Amino acid sequence: MAAVDFFSGAPVTPNLDVDWIHGSRRRAAAGEPLIRVHRHDDHSFILRQSKATSFEAPFLYLLFGNSRALLLDTGATADAAQFPLRATVDSIMTGWLAAHPTPGYGLLVAHTHGHGDHIAGDGQFADRPDTEVVGAGVAAVRAFFGFDDDGVPVRVDLGVRALEAIHTPGHQDAAITLFDPWTGWLLTGDTVCPGRLYVEDMTAFTASLDRMVALARARRVSSVLGSHIEMTARRGRDYPAGTLFQPDEPPLQMSVDQLAEVSAAAHAVASRPGAHVFDHFIIFNGPCRAAFRRQRMRRLANRMRGR
Ligand SMILES: [Zn+2]
Repeated sequence: MAAVDFFSGAPVTPNLDVDWIHGSRRRAAAGEPLIRVHRHDDHSFILRQSKATSFEAPFLYLLFGNSRALLLDTGATADAAQFPLRATVDSIMTGWLAAHPTPGYGLLVAHTHGHGDHIAGDGQFADRPDTEVVGAGVAAVRAFFGFDDDGVPVRVDLGVRALEAIHTPGHQDAAITLFDPWTGWLLTGDTVCPGRLYVEDMTAFTASLDRMVALARARRVSSVLGSHIEMTARRGRDYPAGTLFQPDEPPLQMSVDQLAEVSAAAHAVASRPGAHVFDHFIIFNGPCRAAFRRQRMRRLANRMRGR
């Protein structure tokens, strides 16, 4: 069996015209899957956790190389009955391995960052053979990837498919960004997504965005893909945190120009705490107590209207 050639033909034709909208307990009861699987190409899958199990409804990425696959993030729910991530990943991997038999094929489980809604399913992989789960803390992440302070991208080789990783703290101290030359994806976690960008450390956040823009400009990036959709299709309008059904979502993917917009916006509001609304994202600089109160009120109002 010939190895997959991840060089010629890269990047593959984008296939991101997906209707991601799903969720709510009612729809799950009506037979909607608990994890939505999108096969982007033969070797790249995007998974979305249903809002039936978590309002966070994060996106996860499963990328195949010739010697191992990478699962980026493990979702917001630990319980395999509510969130059958291991079974879903195993079934996709069984299919891939049937077409590409590879003895001892590995699985690397890593995280965009260490927040609970990105690592909760780690335990489902604890006893999986040929599997390495990177720890969620910043020390484990630095040690695994070998980041140092010069910010030079680090190679993560899946077997001919070689990704590049950079350490991008600011939203959270263990946050990373990955570039995949096969798809052209820049995977940005919660640092950049069409949603609320919560900033824990603004100095680190703006420095990370500078490095992300520099990397994106130096590579053939097709799409910037984060971990959540929290905006509506209306400019500057988000679904309040906790929303269980989002019928009017914008696409998941953002452009390199939009990444540069996030960077410029973060620099512009860096010295001003509070929530700052832009067309395609909202920057939460610091604790933002008033903005969170407004979020709670909007969520409550929506619940009372049955949304
Ligand atoms: Zn987060």
